[in-house]
Amino acid sequence: MNLTFFGAAREVTGSCYLVESEGLRFLVDCGMFQGGKAAEIKNRHVPRFDPETLDFVLLTHAHIDHSGLIPRLVNLGFRGRVYCTDATVDLLKVMWPDSAFILEKEAEWRNYAKHKRRGELKTETAPLYTVAQAQAALKRLERVAYDEAIQPHERVRVCFRDAGHILGAAIVEVWLQEAGQTRKLVFSGDLGMPSRPLMNDPTPIHEADYLLVEATYGNRLHKTLAATIEEFVDAINHTLVHKKGNVIIPSFAVGRTQEIIYLLTSFIRQGRIPPHTAIFVDSPMAEAATEVTLKHMGELDVDARELMAWTRHNDAGPYIRFTESVEDSMALNKISQGAVIISASGMCDAGRIKHHLKFNLPRPECSVIISGFQAQGTLGRKLVDGARTVKIFREWVPVRADLYTLGGLSAHADRDALLGWLGHFGRPPQTTFVVHGEEETAIGFAETIHKRLGWPAEVPVVGASYELKGGKAHLR
Ligand SMILES: [Zn+2]
Repeated sequence: MNLTFFGAAREVTGSCYLVESEGLRFLVDCGMFQGGKAAEIKNRHVPRFDPETLDFVLLTHAHIDHSGLIPRLVNLGFRGRVYCTDATVDLLKVMWPDSAFILEKEAEWRNYAKHKRRGELKTETAPLYTVAQAQAALKRLERVAYDEAIQPHERVRVCFRDAGHILGAAIVEVWLQEAGQTRKLVFSGDLGMPSRPLMNDPTPIHEADYLLVEATYGNRLHKTLAATIEEFVDAINHTLVHKKGNVIIPSFAVGRTQEIIYLLTSFIRQGRIPPHTAIFVDSPMAEAATEVTLKHMGELDVDARELMAWTRHNDAGPYIRFTESVEDSMALNKISQGAVIISASGMCDAGRIKHHLKFNLPRPECSVIISGFQAQGTLGRKLVDGARTVKIFREWVPVRADLYTLGGLSAHADRDALLGWLGHFGRPPQTTFVVHGEEETAIGFAETIHKRLGWPAEVPVVGASYELKGGKAHLR
């Protein structure tokens, strides 16, 4: 059996692993690379395997850095099925067309800019994939329930376990038969932080011959959730009650928005912020993702289900409105106080959030709450780094609003949580591969595993291919 790493090797995006065994070939994840020009080039590389010869794909979760190149794979000739959880299918119905729409717009804009610059267009850039191609790829998805064994091939048995990362996210267990022997591979996917709102804790796994474990935060400990909650409550009360302004929350549409609505509702229930606080969710994608979340309530943790029951039977809950049209979104700018506005994008670089920042940043009575990772170069990062003025829609906007940064809401397990999950293995995997972490972090986490658990751990480079034999891995 061979295992090849095509992405998320010494980096965090582009998850894609190829397993080959006696003519059988399948992928686990086929994600997009993200972050600037270099990533764009990698996304356009022709894969070093023939998509037509793949038997199937196993998909851990909906995030674009795990799923985003599947529409392209289908377009390049992949004819098989893509197995993933029920909720992942529902999320992808929203996310793939949205991703394709952005790719189409970017290509359009680039061609237009080129045309303007050179007067004529000699080579037109095509989008990586189109909305129509994304729709076609959706037809390949095959729904699988958590904890239910499936057999996508006569020699392969697969089970998806709750990873507690985002709705539908899974750890994938694979049992593969080769020459009369069964070997077990475990792909951790992205692992959630235990005790986080909405999500269950990652399912403990007890054994594997070969393990791939993510290491996004393999070198870091998150702020505690309790401290984050205190800070969040203070920010809301200080802004709405004392300063009489608005709270603006830039947020990722999938996961984070639902988590924030959950937290605000629980604060109201506990009497910690004013009842009937007005919450506006201004992002069509966040609304769609919230609908998918409500459809899959059964997969959320007990506290979330209990809080939902409380809101249904109690009218003291929040006033939540989803704005649809651009006009409704613009109308929010007429509200001078008492509103919590949640909008995308999460890094403030695109979308409706920019309007809300433009109107509320210059007002000292308002606050901006940053709850997620802000990449270098984004508007969100400039705010976090303390810029006094920022440019929005070609205008300089003074930053007079208060800025809060909440550190404890990460969707990824931190170093100790990862070690805790690894600690459930009854016997060490024969080979452990550390993936999905920046180079330094991944190498550091492999050392931590070795030091704390005594297991040797490999940190594959991109393109590395290993022969897996008798529990050992040999670089080919
Ligand atoms: Zn993820």
